[in-house]
Amino acid sequence: MSLLSKFAAVAQTRAALGDHDPTGVVMERMLSATRALINGRPTLLAGTNNYLGMTMEPAAIKAGQEALAEAGTGTTGSRNANGTHRAHKLLEEELAAFYGYPHAMVFTTGYGANLAVMSALLDAGDAVLLDAHAHASLFDGAKMTRADTYTFRHNDVDSLDKRLRRLGEQAASTLVIVEGLYSVTGDLAPLADIDAVTHAHGAMLLVDEAHSLGVIGEGGRGVVESAGILDTVDFVVGTFSKSLGTVGGFCVSRHAELGLFRYASRPYIFTASPSPATIASTRVALAMLRDQPERRVHLQRLCARLRAGMAQLGLPVNEVPTPVACVPLPNREKALDTWQRLLDNGLYVNVMLPPATPGNEAMLRVSIGAAYTEADVDEIVLKLGEVLD
Ligand code: PMP
Repeated sequence: MSLLSKFAAVAQTRAALGDHDPTGVVMERMLSATRALINGRPTLLAGTNNYLGMTMEPAAIKAGQEALAEAGTGTTGSRNANGTHRAHKLLEEELAAFYGYPHAMVFTTGYGANLAVMSALLDAGDAVLLDAHAHASLFDGAKMTRADTYTFRHNDVDSLDKRLRRLGEQAASTLVIVEGLYSVTGDLAPLADIDAVTHAHGAMLLVDEAHSLGVIGEGGRGVVESAGILDTVDFVVGTFSKSLGTVGGFCVSRHAELGLFRYASRPYIFTASPSPATIASTRVALAMLRDQPERRVHLQRLCARLRAGMAQLGLPVNEVPTPVACVPLPNREKALDTWQRLLDNGLYVNVMLPPATPGNEAMLRVSIGAAYTEADVDEIVLKLGEVLD
C-alpha cells in the first residue's frame, strides 16, 4: 500500500459525481454582490454567505486599494516573528470596542481562529464538549489538542447538562463549544440556557458566531447579543469571510488571558498575518456593520420572506427567520441532480452531502444577504419550486 493508494476511493467518489461537480463551479466574472457569470450565464447567487453584501462595497474596496498602495501586498510573516502592522492593532481595538470587551485577537482565517483559540485553551486533562452539529473547524481544533473530546445532542440543553454532570470534577476544566447560528440548517442555539447550564457546572463557553455577526442582534453582535449573554459568555469567535466580505477571523473575550494567547497558540504564532488590504477593507466593513443597522433590518425582512416562501413549498423552516435555509433531499443522487438543474436554470445554491452534513442527510443550502431585493428572494423560491417535485 503506497501513500497514494487511498486516492482510489477518492477517485471513485469523484467519478460518482459525473458531470455534477459542485466543487468545480467557476464564477467567471462577478457581476454584483448577488450575481456572477457561471458557464457564460448570469446566475443568481444564493449560496455565498455574503450576508451584508460587503464584498462589492465601494468604501471597503477603496480602503483595500489604498492599503495595497501604501503598505504593500502582504505582511510576509507572522506577527510574533515578523512584526505587527498598526492596522492589525487598530482592527483589534475596534473589534474589542464593538463587543465591549477588553481584548480582541485577529487571525488569518476563521478556520485558523478556531484552531488557535482551542489549542491555546485546551491541554491534556481538560475536556471539550461540542454540539454535534458544530463546524468542522471546531472538531479539527479539538483534534489539535490533547483534551478529551465529547459531543452533546444538537441544541439539546438536557443532553449538555447530563454530559457536564458525567464529567464530574473535570467540568471545571471543560470548554463547551456551540455556534450561534448553525451554518447548514440556519437554526439558532438556545444560548441563554446553554450559557446558564455551562456556568452552573463551572465550565466555560465558546460561541462561534461565523454566521450571526452582523445578522442577529440589535447591534449586529450576533446571537450572544440577542440571547443577552454578552456579559457572561467566555469566548466569542468569528470570521471576516461572511458578513464582512473579506477573509480572516477573530476572537474577543472578557477574560484578560486572551492577551496571552499570542504567546501560547501555535496556529497564531506560525502563520502569516492578514494582508494590509484585507485588514483595511475589514475595518471599513466593520464600521458599516456597526453604523448601518438598516442593512440588518432589510435583511431581516428578506429572511421572513424567504421563510414564508420555503414554507409555501412545504419545506421545513426554522422558528426564527435567518438568512440560511436548507432543502432536505432523499439521497445524494437526487441532491446533485436538483443542484445541477437549479444551476442550469440560473440559480446557484450549495449542495451538502453526507458525511459532512448534520444527521448525514443530503441537502441543498440556500443563503441570502442584505444586497438582495425582494424580487431576488421571490426568484429563489420560484426556481426552487420549479425543480422540486
Ligand atoms: N466557523 C463556522 C461556523 C463556519 O461556517 C466557517 C466557514 N464556513 C468557519 C468557522 C471558518 O471560517 P473561514 O471560512 O473564514 O475560515
